[in-house]
Amino acid sequence: MKNETYILERKDFPTLLEELGRRGYRTFGPTVRDQAIVYDELESVDDLPAGWTEEQDGGKYELRRREDDALFGYVIGPDSWKKYLHPPRQKVFSCAAVDGLITIDDPEPEEPPMAFLGMRSCERHAIAVQDGVFLDPGSADPAYARRREQALFIAVNCTNASETCFCTSMNTGPKVDLPVDLNMTECLTPDHHRFTVRAGSNRGAEILEAVPTRPATEAEVAEAERRIDEAAGEMGRTIETSDLKDLLYANLDNPHWEDVGARCLNCANCTMVCPTCFCTTMEDVTDITGKSAERTRRWDSCFTWDFSYMHGGSVRQSSKSRYRQWMTHKLATWQDQFDRLGCIGCGRCITWCPVGIDLTKEVEAIRNSETVEEAHADN
Ligand code: SF4
Ligand code: SF4
Repeated sequence: MKNETYILERKDFPTLLEELGRRGYRTFGPTVRDQAIVYDELESVDDLPAGWTEEQDGGKYELRRREDDALFGYVIGPDSWKKYLHPPRQKVFSCAAVDGLITIDDPEPEEPPMAFLGMRSCERHAIAVQDGVFLDPGSADPAYARRREQALFIAVNCTNASETCFCTSMNTGPKVDLPVDLNMTECLTPDHHRFTVRAGSNRGAEILEAVPTRPATEAEVAEAERRIDEAAGEMGRTIETSDLKDLLYANLDNPHWEDVGARCLNCANCTMVCPTCFCTTMEDVTDITGKSAERTRRWDSCFTWDFSYMHGGSVRQSSKSRYRQWMTHKLATWQDQFDRLGCIGCGRCITWCPVGIDLTKEVEAIRNSETVEEAHADN
């Protein structure tokens, strides 16, 4: 494997996408659409958000022009790679009655492998969280497993952080530390635009061999590290994680849940943008003749009334109980279920909450108003 650090010059960056195309990958990455940086299929390097960044805060996202032409000079937008590995809508099967016989369709036509260009460290951690759900040997999702196995990850270390980022608190960034096929850092000065690149797999090494590169100097590697360290120092938010589970379990009746429940609109935005949320529901549709039917799996949210519906009504009837369910799952019960936190500190739920509800601040408010101190102390 080609495991040194190399330099890919900006002028040669198009060859990377060309090589991915030659190898049969559909390449997805960041692009500007609808006044946001979203993930979509890339036809060429011209689709990347050159010269764009964003300003984020609770309930706020605005595109801004950078003073340079950085290709990855933004942080993250509303999308995550989840929409490709665990799509918002997925056909489970369809069936039809023909001459008294029922036929069932193949739910998953063969798809070309996908390359994800521009994956951030926190997003790689989010995929690891979803792997824990969808690749569990007892309940693996074959469609997820197939896409996941074929997908090529081209990560870009963060050299900027936004006001809503807190990956350093969650140990998920900003430097990529989980396996990826290629790992890059963008380094841009007024007279030089380049990427340091390392291969993390044989697939990545083969691609790197096929594009024009040269070995990086020690100074260039140090410069890339310095830029990542700067991003670590720019985190807009923090969260203390050491006692989260005990803190939340001991405060299920804290009056602060009423406060946040009164602000929450139950719009489900936070769950839709979250790269780790995995809940779904099933929809069955039959045609008007009753001769064909289709079952679709689609994303659902613990903020909807129907999500916890059982005979007689919804288990979680209040806004307070729905928010408490979401946050205690992410930060506490997830640890019992999967032996890790369900949050990777991307901050999307803060940025895209229309009323700016911020889980880092809600945890802090609970910590500061703890009502069950003795129980917490006992745990
Ligand atoms: S809970 Fe919020 S900050 Fe955590 S992973 Fe989900 S969207 Fe990101
Ligand atoms: S916390 Fe914010 S984004 Fe989530 S459901 Fe409530 S209002 Fe919507």
